[in-house]
Order: sequence, then structure tokens, then C-alpha cells
Amino acid sequence: MKSTDGFFNQYGGKYVAEVLRRPLDELAEAFHFYMNDKVFLEELRIIQRDYIGRETPLYFAPTATKLLGGAQIYIKLEGLANTGAHKINNAIGQCLLAKKMGKTRIIAETGAGQHGLATAAACAKLGLECIVYMGEVDVRRQQPNVAAMELYGAKVCAVTAGSRTLKDAVNEAMRDWAANFENTHYVLGSALGPAPFPDIVREFQSVIGNEVKRQCEERGVKIGAMVACVGGGSNSIGFFSPFIDQKEPRLIGAEAGGIGPGVGENASRMTGDAARDGIMQGYKSRFLLDDDGQALPTRSISAGLDYCGIGPQLAAL
Ligand SMILES: *Cc1c(COP(=O)(O)O)cnc(C)c1O
Repeated sequence: MKSTDGFFNQYGGKYVAEVLRRPLDELAEAFHFYMNDKVFLEELRIIQRDYIGRETPLYFAPTATKLLGGAQIYIKLEGLANTGAHKINNAIGQCLLAKKMGKTRIIAETGAGQHGLATAAACAKLGLECIVYMGEVDVRRQQPNVAAMELYGAKVCAVTAGSRTLKDAVNEAMRDWAANFENTHYVLGSALGPAPFPDIVREFQSVIGNEVKRQCEERGVKIGAMVACVGGGSNSIGFFSPFIDQKEPRLIGAEAGGIGPGVGENASRMTGDAARDGIMQGYKSRFLLDDDGQALPTRSISAGLDYCGIGPQLAAL
């Protein structure tokens, strides 16, 4: 379940510049310490309850059940978490960890703005300075989220490099972290990037799957299959997490099919025409890459599902 030395089979690792080795090692050490610290876990549980609004409901969907004719369909309503998505589960966990490590400054990348907003809210709660890197194109198309981040006291930096979207924001955040890790923590927004981030993000998102397990047990519901959308893979891996080592239920991740199987038409890192193994942004996984190993354009109707890479644990699964 957990990675072995940062790897899930052949995927994962930390393919980073030498300068990032130290902050990644420090982070891994602190994470393992605090995930076994009762005081930390209790503090996290109380913030999850009082600030995120956990637990979120497990809703029986009668109309979908009737219309689709077959399975009894339940929906885990993560959209009711504070700031409107599951992103805050990870943001709160990492910000609390960073605070324990003595960091005072938080940086994050964001595409559609959900992770930036969640991190801004986490920093406001915990009294940390917050800088969010966002591609200039995204700053323009996601104005309401930018305004909300600023309302929480975050500074939003528009990135003008490359395609001026999410992957460029990630690059800029990594550069900032390399220069400032003494007082700064980088809150990565999905279950990807260099080790130990895939393990950290899965553990903080596993609150979703743990609640589902308990809620189903309480209600006598036997789960046949679990389905989640896969952008980078954080909501899905957190949802699946308590069930991965079991034979049942079936675990189904849905990638963005876009408008077709061709290059530039989707974000199918497992099965698309341009899908291949590669190394980008510090980790080895499945990516949409050209023959030179550079990221290809992606397409999805959903702003959260159009990233060119997928978390290494999901790639391995
Ligand atoms: C970010 C986001 C996603 C995709 O990211 P994952 O890391 O794959 O979970 C999907 N849905 C919503 C609402 C999001 O905010």
C-alpha cells in the first residue's frame, strides 16, 4: 500500500535536482514521525471535524439508481467539504505538518484554483503565510477562485512561462521551494510528484475511504464497486486506500476521455495514443509525452482532469 523507498513497482521515485534532496528527506522524516504522534492526529481530527466539516455525507442517490437500473448507487459528497472539494483534506494535513516542522511560509501550485483555494483556507486557519503559483491563463479564466484566495489572505502569483497553465505553475513552485525551503513548505496538490508526496497525499486523503468504509458498515451496505475520477489521482487513491489490499470491491478510476483517443484530444495517461512511461516533475509514471519526452497538450471538459501525468501508485495499480 505504502511505497517501498518511494516506489510503487516501477513507478514513483524522486527524480529531482540535488538541492531538493534535503527538503524531501526532512519532509519524509517529519511525516513518519507525526503520523505516529497521537497529539498530531487528534489535532488533525478536530480540524477535520470543525473546519473542513467532516464527516461528509454518504448519499443514497435514488434517481440515479432507478435510471441506471441495476446497482444501488451511493455518492460520497466531498463537494460539501469547506472550499468545495476534497483538496482541503490534503491542504490541512500538509499545512499542519509544515507548522510542526517550524515552517512559516507555504507555497502551492494551482490549475483550476481548487487546490490554491484549499491551501489558502488552511493557511488562514493555521496562521501561515501563503503564496499560490498559478498560470497566467488560469488566473484569467478562474477569476472567482483568485478573488477567494485573496480574501483568505493568500498572494496569487501569475506564472508567465511556457503554456502559462498548471505544469508551469508546478515548475515555478519547485524553483521557489529549492530557494526557500529553510522556512517554506511546498503543499503539492495531488498524489504525485517526488517521494514522499504520493504517500503523504494518499494518507491525508484516505479520510474519504475510511469514512466510506465506516458509513457502509453502519448501514449494512456491501460495496460491489467504487468509482472515482482521476486527475492527478488524489481523491481516487484516498477513496480506494482502505480497500486496495482486498480482493473486493472492484476499484475503478475514470480518466478524461476528452473528444477521442488521439493526441491532444484527452488526458488518458493509461490508454491514450500518446500515453507512455516517462519522468517529469520529479517522478516516474505514465504521461502524455511527445518523442522528445516533453508534455503534450491535453483536453477535458473538466478543468481538474486535464493534467498530463498520473500519480505513480495508480499507474502501478
Ligand atoms: C482537483 C480536483 C479533481 C482532480 O484531482 P485528483 O487529484 O485526481 O483528485 C477532481 N475533482 C475535483 C472537484 C477537484 O477539485
